[in-house]
Amino acid sequence: MAALRTALHGRLVQALPLSLGGVRSASSFKASDLVVERSASCGPKPDPSSLVFGKHFSDHMLTISWSAAGGWEAPHIKPFQNLSLHPASSALHYSIELFEGMKAFRGEDNHIRLFRPMLNMERMHRSAHRSSLPLYDQEELLTCIKKLVELDQDWVPFSQDASLYIRPTFIGTEPSLGVSPPTQAMIFVIVGPVGPYFSTGSFSPVSLLADPSFVRAWRGGVGAYKMGGNYGPTIAVQNEALKRGCQQVLWLYGEKEEITEVGTMNLFIYWTNEKGEKELFTPPLDGIILPGVTRQSLLDLARSWGEFKVTERTMGMKELLGALEAGRILEVFGAGTACVVCPVGSLLYGEKTYEIPTMQNGPDLAKRFHKELTDIQYGRKASDWAPLVV
Ligand SMILES: *Cc1c(COP(=O)(O)O)cnc(C)c1O
Repeated sequence: MAALRTALHGRLVQALPLSLGGVRSASSFKASDLVVERSASCGPKPDPSSLVFGKHFSDHMLTISWSAAGGWEAPHIKPFQNLSLHPASSALHYSIELFEGMKAFRGEDNHIRLFRPMLNMERMHRSAHRSSLPLYDQEELLTCIKKLVELDQDWVPFSQDASLYIRPTFIGTEPSLGVSPPTQAMIFVIVGPVGPYFSTGSFSPVSLLADPSFVRAWRGGVGAYKMGGNYGPTIAVQNEALKRGCQQVLWLYGEKEEITEVGTMNLFIYWTNEKGEKELFTPPLDGIILPGVTRQSLLDLARSWGEFKVTERTMGMKELLGALEAGRILEVFGAGTACVVCPVGSLLYGEKTYEIPTMQNGPDLAKRFHKELTDIQYGRKASDWAPLVV
């Protein structure tokens, strides 16, 4: 146990100075070395109207292996298949694992687009660094992912209500139980069609459980990284929310019960502030907030419109409930790749349910954001946020 503790301590100390990593980033795999092994058969494509999130996968996958001794191997695209892992693999024991979530969209012009994919690549790279996983060239990974989507392009739904979900994943495959930086690792990317979060036309609000006894992330922790270890423990809390008649969790933090995120979405509030000004605000990226691509995009859009104040600041439950009581809360919504925006309709806090008038207010702003982003994603509006795959 003492040895384990020492090893763990050593790893943390090593991971913290974030300028470190030069040695490990010295080399990268290259998309130009990609080896493609085509699947002999193509699976049946599900009907876009009956898609269940995360249950359908395309014909191929991308894998890229690394070892401390041999460096990065050539990337492979091969038939979708099970992985074979040593039972001591560090991803399985110590959660040396991270993931990304992004989408490819088939536009009305039949071109396939990604949405701000370099933001996902940069976030993944930060997660790799914090996980003591080896670094690589982010553009090379994006090029490999584009090749996978191009090869499986028939899997991108012919629908402007559906898309191809892309799940880049990075795991430690170190075959030993020592708590130390892995000397073996693998990036793999799987893709599959997903449906709309809301059935067409309906924009239904969610109810939230706000219970300060549950914490998702803390300052100094790793909540700002998409590491698998952040998500498994939230499922029991999500179940607790369902048991209490709520659909999702509003994550609170600290003595002030700061409002942080909604489920796995960033949180936005549009309100009339104490000075009587219209303002959009979201919690700041201070270590407990996942830096969402959708979050960044809503902030960028709102700032480019210049029609109301846009602020990144913290707010405690007390202030939120006060503003709600004073009728100053206009819209509350979550933001993420899955739904773009998701309106919030009520809040269970203590024994009391607080109604939030998001739907009564249109919700004009949430709908406007939804339209702006989906117009770009499906090529109805030209934008350099949506680079073509094919
Ligand atoms: C992924 C995620 C988000 C949303 O990020 P996007 O890049 O917009 O999809 C927000 N919060 C958490 C906790 C997440 O895991």
